[in-house]
Amino acid sequence: MNLILMGLPGAGKGTQAEKIVEKYDIPHISTGDMFRLAIKEGTALGKEAKSYMDKGELVPDEVTIGIVRERLSKPDTEKGFLLDGFPRTIAQAEALENLLGDMDESIDYVLHIDVPKDKLVERLTGRRICPTCGATYHVVFNPPKEEGKCDHDGAELIQREDDQPETVRTRLEVNVEQAQPLLDFYREKGYLASFEGDKDINDVFNDIDKKLGELSE
Ligand SMILES: [Zn+2]
Repeated sequence: MNLILMGLPGAGKGTQAEKIVEKYDIPHISTGDMFRLAIKEGTALGKEAKSYMDKGELVPDEVTIGIVRERLSKPDTEKGFLLDGFPRTIAQAEALENLLGDMDESIDYVLHIDVPKDKLVERLTGRRICPTCGATYHVVFNPPKEEGKCDHDGAELIQREDDQPETVRTRLEVNVEQAQPLLDFYREKGYLASFEGDKDINDVFNDIDKKLGELSE
């Protein structure tokens, strides 16, 4: 079961990834984890990636793709994988097609968790932080007992700069622009499976689960 997970920030990718890997016993492979592992193992590609990251530069595609190839060759991917955060561009998507082709594999589904942008703004701007103890709350999903006050120490909760509506909207716009060509690419290939993400976490997972069940039929 070879899967790619896509969705905007706040769409609930992390939660769904946890559920998918638990049920289907495949590794959740995020770009960050992949780089960290290659660097920790000290592979040639890991060292190369690190040299770019240390300079604050983007890691070139050929290095990233090499690291993906190494990761997908590990024994824990025997039953498949759930890729998260890769590919980000059409060039990377095409490289992934080639590398899977070399391994006699292909993508089964690109799972896209689709949540309307306004809902994402609501989710992402609702976060509140306690400046004293660092506890996090959400005005809708995880409110403190007393509005605006930390449950632990009563401190006045704050909203971080990153969670301000303007910042959130800009961040989402950038992500939409980046994701749209990829979604189109995978739709044309027939891999794209979109799920309405604006509902209960378990209902979203049930929809995904049903779709994945088709693979074993
Ligand atoms: Zn606190």
